[in-house]
Amino acid sequence: MTRTPITIKNPAEISRMRDAGQVVVLVHRRIEEAIRPGVTTGELDAIARDTLAEVGAVSSFLGYYGFPGHICASVNDEIVHGIPGRRVLHEGDIVSIDVGAIVNGYHGDSAWTYPVGRISEEATQLLATTEAALHEAIAAARPGHRLGAVGHAVERLGEARGYGIVRGYGGHGIGRQMHEDPHVPNHGDPTKGVVLRPGMTLAIEPMLNVGTEETRVLADEWTVVTADGSLSAHFEHTVAITLGEAQVLTERLAPVVY
Ligand code: MG
Ligand code: MG
Repeated sequence: MTRTPITIKNPAEISRMRDAGQVVVLVHRRIEEAIRPGVTTGELDAIARDTLAEVGAVSSFLGYYGFPGHICASVNDEIVHGIPGRRVLHEGDIVSIDVGAIVNGYHGDSAWTYPVGRISEEATQLLATTEAALHEAIAAARPGHRLGAVGHAVERLGEARGYGIVRGYGGHGIGRQMHEDPHVPNHGDPTKGVVLRPGMTLAIEPMLNVGTEETRVLADEWTVVTADGSLSAHFEHTVAITLGEAQVLTERLAPVVY
């Protein structure tokens, strides 16, 4: 996968990325409302398609290296890059919905793993831990820290809970391209990696598995699954490094009501 080099964005560019990020949040909100036993991942994809069209945005994923969906929908043991289609969601499933949108030339990218109806205690713990790992990784994304601190935060929490930490896939720089440098692994050494600077924009996306960290790719050549069939969760935000705490550009703000 080709990437563009690390780019430093000015405040106007970060503002445009926040616009893209808030479109991503809108798509997530509409999909979250629709997730229930009996819905298909293809129906969720149609919600994304219609919502993006309504606001004049374009999916970051559709057509990317030939990807056929507007979103990625990854169920249970599927980690990332699940293709939406006829699969029916059942009570007790978990589904990672990954949404990317282009608005005025800039990308926003955020994934969230949702429960379908009532889920097991094992699944509940996995979702809570992976979301917590995302927040700890964002807290580590401060100017002057090295990139390794971000992955280290994910690795530390995942290991403490005994989860498999997915190493073959991770986050990325983001901006005018969905994938820019640097690659943002979910493991690392806080003393290694590029020094973070204000104006860097990153998609941080921990993926944790109940079982092994080993993965394989299904015959569709997209869907990444856990090698042992165990559950996997994935949470992602697009953030901007600032002088203090990183700003979350895909923050799930309350909707405007008037
Ligand atoms: Mg994503
Ligand atoms: Mg991403």
